[in-house]
Amino acid sequence: RAKKNIAENFEYFAPEIEEKTTWQLSMIRRLRNDFADRKLELWFQPQVDLVSEKVVGMEGLLRWPDNEGGYISPAIFVPLAEYSGLIVDIGDWVLEESCRRIKALNEAGFGHLRVAVNISILQFRDKQFIDKVKAVIERFGCDPSRLELEITESVVMDEPQIVIDALRSLKEYGVAIAIDDFGTGFSSMSYLQKLPLDRLKVDRSFVNDITPGKSAVIAETIVTLGNKLGLLTIAEGVEKREQASYMLKLGCDEAQGFLFAKPMPFAELMPFLQERSGE
Ligand code: C2E
Ligand code: MG
Ligand code: MG
Ligand code: MG
Repeated sequence: RAKKNIAENFEYFAPEIEEKTTWQLSMIRRLRNDFADRKLELWFQPQVDLVSEKVVGMEGLLRWPDNEGGYISPAIFVPLAEYSGLIVDIGDWVLEESCRRIKALNEAGFGHLRVAVNISILQFRDKQFIDKVKAVIERFGCDPSRLELEITESVVMDEPQIVIDALRSLKEYGVAIAIDDFGTGFSSMSYLQKLPLDRLKVDRSFVNDITPGKSAVIAETIVTLGNKLGLLTIAEGVEKREQASYMLKLGCDEAQGFLFAKPMPFAELMPFLQERSGE
């Protein structure tokens, strides 16, 4: 399978492959070993309602410890995990870990919170993906609506029919769907109506454009589009108070960003939730 995926993805990596091959292959080998040794971690970043600022959910984000007490960014290793095909097994584990946490949250009295996970295009190409998602939800006895799948525009555009069919089936089962980094990819507007979406995530580059005294026309347009399509909107990468206020003024529903909380290990999340969770 790894070989097949390398072939499938070769074109994306062709420009860099000559100089980076050795480095990439050694990173992939380390990633494969560390994943097998259960060294990957899934951290969580809270998401808040912009009016009450109470936590409404969280996004699961992979962390790969390096040997110096730090972490290698998923922005670096997720593409390698995709290139090697490893992302399918890692993605299965992320789903399992998320459902385990949904169950734990429920048992701790936070059953209203949802957990979002990022899904790679290679997971959609996995013929068993839909069954795997349903099976893991059942195994942990989760409410399916507490699990949200995040897909980017490029995932949709890569394999529109496969992705639309899979999402429709999972949505029917009760799972929530969000479109991630919205506005940075090239999605056809017609797909927005074909996808069974619940939530639109305004990419942090547009939220970042909001500075005192300046309007952010793209953020505003995305929020309006989301509202008109009947979707919830969430601002990514909110770092400053004025960005939160401005997004709220535009009618954005929720926010995620360092202003409210950074991604953290699950064990650190619990005390945070005691203070900041609604209901
Ligand atoms: P993403 O899904 O768009 O995740 C949001 C990223 O923004 C995270 O980066 C998060 O730490 C960062 N972020 C959140 N708030 C702020 C803020 O206020 N300011 C700034 N500057 N950044 C903020 P992270 O954790 O490095 O993840 C990067 C990307 O890696 C993710 O982007 C996602 O595309 C990918 N990724 C992470 N975990 C997974 C996973 O489990 N599966 C897959 N397929 N991809 C993943
Ligand atoms: Mg995401
Ligand atoms: Mg994002
Ligand atoms: Mg992003």
